Amino acid sequence: MSNEKTWKPATQLVHGATMRSQFGETSEAMYLTQGFVYDSSESAEARFKGDEPGFIYSRYANPTVDVFEKRMCALEGAEDARATASGMAAISAALLCSVKAGDHVVAARALFGSCRWVVETLMPKYGIESTLVDGRDMAQWEAAVRPNTKLFFLESPTNPTLEVVDIAAVAKIADGIGARVVVDNVFATPLQQKPLELGAHVVVYSATKHIDGQGRCLGGIILSDKKWIDENLHDFFRHTGPSLSPFNAWTLLKGLETLPLRVKQQTDSALRIADHLAAHPKVSRVIYPGRADHPQAEIIARQMSGGSTLVCFETKGGKPGAFAFQNALEIVRISNNLGDAKSLITHPATTTHKNLTEDARADLGISPGTVRLSVGLEDAGDLIADLDRALSKV
Ligand SMILES: *Cc1c(COP(=O)(O)O)cnc(C)c1O
Repeated sequence: MSNEKTWKPATQLVHGATMRSQFGETSEAMYLTQGFVYDSSESAEARFKGDEPGFIYSRYANPTVDVFEKRMCALEGAEDARATASGMAAISAALLCSVKAGDHVVAARALFGSCRWVVETLMPKYGIESTLVDGRDMAQWEAAVRPNTKLFFLESPTNPTLEVVDIAAVAKIADGIGARVVVDNVFATPLQQKPLELGAHVVVYSATKHIDGQGRCLGGIILSDKKWIDENLHDFFRHTGPSLSPFNAWTLLKGLETLPLRVKQQTDSALRIADHLAAHPKVSRVIYPGRADHPQAEIIARQMSGGSTLVCFETKGGKPGAFAFQNALEIVRISNNLGDAKSLITHPATTTHKNLTEDARADLGISPGTVRLSVGLEDAGDLIADLDRALSKV
């Protein structure tokens, strides 16, 4: 459409990149097909040669997946994208396709567990070395740089303690040495933080989280400039097959339509809950990027336009206190997912971060009483009443 480029996100996410079939359906068509047929042998030949536009095989590209990728590009302000079957498929492809044997990666240590495994365990198997740093400390990023450093990788805000990394400052160091910056932007969502505008080169999402937002399917996406995707991801995707299923692409497209409404409501409720918990006698500490007492409030004001839908806090009474609290919740459910319409709570020390040593957890600010709350779409007053009732058991 002619003025699509001027649309605000709420409009883009409902109409962007629409590709109607000859039937003029209202809702996006779901092309559940593996392959495509050709009118003639000549047409098949031309399509394989790249002389004729069109689809060949859904491992390469599929119309429903294509609409999802294009709509995400418009939202992110990216030239091109590749959707994947899960967030980890997106992140591992983005990292592995950025380096080769002999290269060195610097990553912020506060990473989603599987990302840390890719950097610390998988990459070294293929001769790619890595150094983990405290992402908040620019001197550590600088000190970690080696002549063969090709890639910086970070997540901000981080899981679960919602630390923030200054993306523009990291990108400046990377540009100085010609390295690329990959940002896992799951916690901020594409609505509250724009890593490409801050100088990052590649943005990755687990679409499983806010983009679906209703707990239905896994998905992921890598967004960057067209040249990098053509040169680094194109062949990898065709030949290794991390492709997103058209069914899940369709589900994610339905999620995108309501993403701005959901993220706004969940963020408003998260702030209200964080403020309430900060004054609660059974809570020793609250970390929320939307509060003025966040240790990095100044960076947040520069790089985020919202405080996220997650609240991290510490219940008194250590692990027994946290367990008694979680077990007494009636509306909020115990689950390690996030960004869902349902409020979900997790105890990182015994679940998502159980593989770290006690010292490594302490370094990340995870104590035995720490819990991470993903705020859902329920009435905020009901959620506060549920949290209060459960905290009385601590
Ligand atoms: C969930 C998550 C991932 C992994 O995504 P999957 O869709 O579960 O594979 C990666 N990074 C962050 C920050 C996440 O929250």
